[in-house]
Amino acid sequence: MVVGLTGGIGSGKSTVLNEFKLLGVPVYIADVEAKHIMNTSLVVKEKIIALLGTYAYHNHQLNRKYIADKVFNHKELLAQLNAIVHPAVHQHFKEFVAKQTATYLVYENAILFENNSEKLCDKVIVVTASEENRISRVIKRDGVAKEAVLARMKNQWSQEAKIKKADFVIQNDDILILKEQVLKIHQELIEINL
Ligand code: ATP
Repeated sequence: MVVGLTGGIGSGKSTVLNEFKLLGVPVYIADVEAKHIMNTSLVVKEKIIALLGTYAYHNHQLNRKYIADKVFNHKELLAQLNAIVHPAVHQHFKEFVAKQTATYLVYENAILFENNSEKLCDKVIVVTASEENRISRVIKRDGVAKEAVLARMKNQWSQEAKIKKADFVIQNDDILILKEQVLKIHQELIEINL
């Protein structure tokens, strides 16, 4: 069974994912795998260079800053980049799933709904936190300005929209109750599959 994990910037997806890892659950981080594929797949690399130019790579490595600057606020270009990367990641993910023997695995994707990746999942967990907490966490973690966090938030679905489509919601304002929530969901997921 594939369990999607999503949530807005700074909600605590990585923190939650780590709790699942501690329970021995296999995890797949879409963003990490996407970067790996963009760096290693010759077919994907060629298509990205055709779309964004040779500066998209520097010393054969993805030039993330250049790409981010190019596609940020350019919806059409971003959609074209996604049309190159997402199918390759989905294919890689399907191969990963086929190799698993655990009851379920967690697939983390910050833009799970935005890019229709929920179709890959049997269940979806949404991590939420107050906007105030999310902003202050990202400012602290990344050393960025509040405006930069707000700009990234604007490109994501609202928490309310995500909650409507969720099978499970993890409320991550209080770190102390996080473990409990994860354990409860873990037990339910194992029961579903029995
Ligand atoms: P992004 O979408 O930006 O990658 P994320 O949803 O994966 O973010 P995390 O990286 O897990 O979020 O959390 C953001 C920051 O907030 C991290 O520095 C993390 O340690 C911290 N954090 C997460 N949950 C809590 C919490 N409940 N209380 C305090 N700090 C927290």
